[in-house]
Amino acid sequence: MYVCGVTPYDTTHLGHARTFLVFDVLARALEAGGTRVRYAQNVTDVDESILQRAARDGVDWRELGRREERWFLEDMRRLGWRRPDVMPHATREIPTMRLLIERLIRRGDAYAVDGSVYFDIGRDRHYGELSGLSRPAMLRTLARQDDARLDDPRRRDPLDFALWRHVKDGPTWPSPFGRGRPGWHIECSAMVLHHLGETIDVHGGGSDLVYPHHENEIAQSESATGKRPFARFWVHVAPMRLGGKKMSKSEGNMVFVRDALARMTPQALRLYLLDVHYRRPFDHDEARLARAVERAGRLAATLGGGRFGPVGRDPATRAVLAAVDDDLHTERAIRTLERVAPRADDRARSSLRTVARRILGVL
Ligand SMILES: [Zn+2]
Repeated sequence: MYVCGVTPYDTTHLGHARTFLVFDVLARALEAGGTRVRYAQNVTDVDESILQRAARDGVDWRELGRREERWFLEDMRRLGWRRPDVMPHATREIPTMRLLIERLIRRGDAYAVDGSVYFDIGRDRHYGELSGLSRPAMLRTLARQDDARLDDPRRRDPLDFALWRHVKDGPTWPSPFGRGRPGWHIECSAMVLHHLGETIDVHGGGSDLVYPHHENEIAQSESATGKRPFARFWVHVAPMRLGGKKMSKSEGNMVFVRDALARMTPQALRLYLLDVHYRRPFDHDEARLARAVERAGRLAATLGGGRFGPVGRDPATRAVLAAVDDDLHTERAIRTLERVAPRADDRARSSLRTVARRILGVL
């Protein structure tokens, strides 16, 4: 399982936490069922947004990235995150990216323009199948993205995306194409290939990554390896919203994990964040958050204090796990747990306790 991770330049907000907790529960559920999981998640520690923020604040971009990453890991640790088995960093994977780009050039799927290298989307007849977007819709999306605006207007097609960029400012690395920086999308393809293999089972991330990021990952990975599919299942988490807008740095409408955890237990915050199915946008609501605190308290009073037994085959446990198995319906799983726990006998209760703690993490 590969999940697109953070670009560490700002504090972890509830939207990040929700996204990564979805994959936390997925990994926990698979592992509880006896499946071995290898989970990789990248850290984009060099990126235009880090460089801009570092310049604005007058700090070294590496120091900024390291500090924000430490805080992110600390926030997620407090939330009981099942940590990835490997967290590759972009700055340490440049050789892997260069090799992948060379492979694409050799196959004729990529071309150079003055020291930059672009992927030729005309070479991929499956391009666009993940997002299902029309060409005009793709162009509109790209026009809104800072990253895409850096691309050379002389490339063959405005949808062709940068694998390597010739840049004048900021950190650069040597390459056979000239000094520069890798494009953002190639990072994830290279890391998947390096740490997991040519085909993976689950690829995840926020739903805002479907186009262009994941569409481009598929194009470059499948072109380089000749293997389809690149990922068997795509899991996209819908955005967290506040005031009708996506919670984000650019909107400035963030609620930070650290501030929320000053007011409640990690279990209550998990219950809150997992209480909306991952495909549905989550509208942050303080009243609902306060109710989540009460609900977590009630669950602890009902289930707490006893022993953690094996996960049983009793109807109560089966009902909760059936919801988890149904496209990771954590919302229904938690509500089922709350309904069945007070009426369960001792044995079922010891099983539910294990499910609540080990899989959902709400106890
Ligand atoms: Zn990615």
